[in-house]
Amino acid sequence: MSKSYPPILKKLIESFSLLPGIGEKSATRFCMFLLSKPELCEVLGDLIKELPYKIKLCKFCRNFSEKEICFICNDESRDSSLLCIVENPVNLSYIEETGVYQGYYFVLHYLLSPKDGIGPKDLGLDHLIFLIKTRKIKEIIIALSPTLSGETTTAYILEVLKPHPVRITKIACGIPLGMEIQFVDPLTLKRALFGREILKEK
Ligand SMILES: [Zn+2]
Repeated sequence: MSKSYPPILKKLIESFSLLPGIGEKSATRFCMFLLSKPELCEVLGDLIKELPYKIKLCKFCRNFSEKEICFICNDESRDSSLLCIVENPVNLSYIEETGVYQGYYFVLHYLLSPKDGIGPKDLGLDHLIFLIKTRKIKEIIIALSPTLSGETTTAYILEVLKPHPVRITKIACGIPLGMEIQFVDPLTLKRALFGREILKEK
């Protein structure tokens, strides 16, 4: 990095460079742009500062929410017999945008990955079992990416849910193996939601 930059600028460039997919060049470009937009600096500063305190996990589905219960779990018009397991809130939003799914969700936030130190406890499946026991869920739809971690996690969930009287399906049709859900086009995702594969009958 150029030694000619003042310390605050260097620090900000370094901080932006920590973001995924952002190198030093892009980070420098962001900083130069921000220097010409004092109002944006203020808004961004405030939002970033508040972010970790305002966003919590919905107590039912573990989606991001500013309230204790997210807007999806609060929507009583949805189909309470369906629960869709997704890896993260980003994939949840993609499924929501297809408009074809009307049930509720459960967000894992992680996929099993021993090499990254992610084990069964990180998935919050105790909470999922609590939901199965306390709600009238008839079908669990596993909508994880068909990657190695996704498949390992699916197999694990299937094992854990074996004793529970609930049908388990997974979206499969049309999503290429190894592809992350967030890169699947909406039409393919819609078809995948309709053409689910049954993993376990009740
Ligand atoms: Zn929720």
